[in-house]
Amino acid sequence: MMKEHIETLCVQAGYRPETGESRIPPIVQSTTFFYGDSQVMADLFDLKREGFFYSRLANPTVDTLEKKIAALEGGVCGIGCSSGMSALLLTAMTLCEAGDNIVTAGEIYGGTFNLFSTTLKKFGIEGRFFDADAPAEDIEKLIDGKTKFVFAETIANPAIVVLDFDKISAICKRHGVLFVVDNTLATPVLCRPLALGADIVVHSTSKYMDGHAAALGGMIVDGGKFLYKDNPRYPAFNVPDESYHGLVYADLAAPFGVKCRAQMMRDTGAVMSPQNAFYTLLGSDTLALRMERHSRNAEQIAAFLAKHPKIEWVRYAALQGDRHYALAKKYLPKGTGGMMSFGIRGDVGACARFMEHLHIATQETHVADVRSCVLHPASTTHRQLSEDQLSAAGIAPNLVRLSVGIENVDDLIADLTQALSHV
Ligand code: PLP
Repeated sequence: MMKEHIETLCVQAGYRPETGESRIPPIVQSTTFFYGDSQVMADLFDLKREGFFYSRLANPTVDTLEKKIAALEGGVCGIGCSSGMSALLLTAMTLCEAGDNIVTAGEIYGGTFNLFSTTLKKFGIEGRFFDADAPAEDIEKLIDGKTKFVFAETIANPAIVVLDFDKISAICKRHGVLFVVDNTLATPVLCRPLALGADIVVHSTSKYMDGHAAALGGMIVDGGKFLYKDNPRYPAFNVPDESYHGLVYADLAAPFGVKCRAQMMRDTGAVMSPQNAFYTLLGSDTLALRMERHSRNAEQIAAFLAKHPKIEWVRYAALQGDRHYALAKKYLPKGTGGMMSFGIRGDVGACARFMEHLHIATQETHVADVRSCVLHPASTTHRQLSEDQLSAAGIAPNLVRLSVGIENVDDLIADLTQALSHV
């Protein structure tokens, strides 16, 4: 088959109707599926045959989105989850047991930071944090025989740090550890982590993938290349799973994907709904167009803010002079999307006055959809973090996060100008 470009995959991947079927993927709003032959059903449960039997494990609409995002990322299968957080939780649960650890960048989404630092700790899984700019030797010191994966975001939310793929992937290869990347803010349109050494990609599809702030969702994509067979670091993949008829996951074509679905999705039920998969399918049709516009708008806005007297600093990786400009050029040559952060000259009150006077960008907890929005992370999404944790996550007290939408860029700049006059 012809190797299609990402713009074509965004529109076409995942679904091809048969004669007389609906041109766009239908919403299959059913918990369960009919079979007249009990042997066929038994084969489904034994994973000897592919098919749908219960929507907690697989559903045709969710399956279409799974195939589409797996194709966009260049992976072998996708697992649709109820949210980005459940995708991250399921990834950790599939790979880790009590006593294991995750070596992770500190500059990550606040919810993920909590998951790795606090919630998983209650179940005996430790998060070990490193600074994204730390030398490889320092990161390697955190890895031991119980490390199950190394984690980072392609573009960190909200610190806007760009992942140094070569550095982390070399570390992972040296230690035979899985490299898991959250590609939410870059999307496969701007960066494809599996081609850069990652083994598993995670998404909050609630962001650019849907792009309209309509549907919560998460996706895990298995790259399918990692060797689990007889790998002493991953014993759980090499012993029969008694809860699944003695299945040995390492013997399968996609060990991680099957274990994640058959074991963890079965037991948690953190599945994406068919309705949300449908909205995300619709949204993702225009992903390539949108990412281009988000990037071009944000580039102009970052340049405008960088020169503004009321702005102390701007963090946008595609802005010349940004500390990660070289990494952005190397790994995200098409642009870095709409997310940026900047420091207002002033205190928390000055940040609030600025945000309250904006007419177009609204204050929201959300990011990465067609509408521009702003947020003050230190007093909202990250307010549960201590000062030390805030600084480890790269969140200054005067940091404002701006998610640039696809509106007219001159209108956005005019709005920012008038709002900054109130600071
Ligand atoms: N990963 C990143 C990079 C995010 O920005 C978010 C949410 O903002 C998540 C994961 C969690 O996703 P969700 O809100 O869909 O649970």
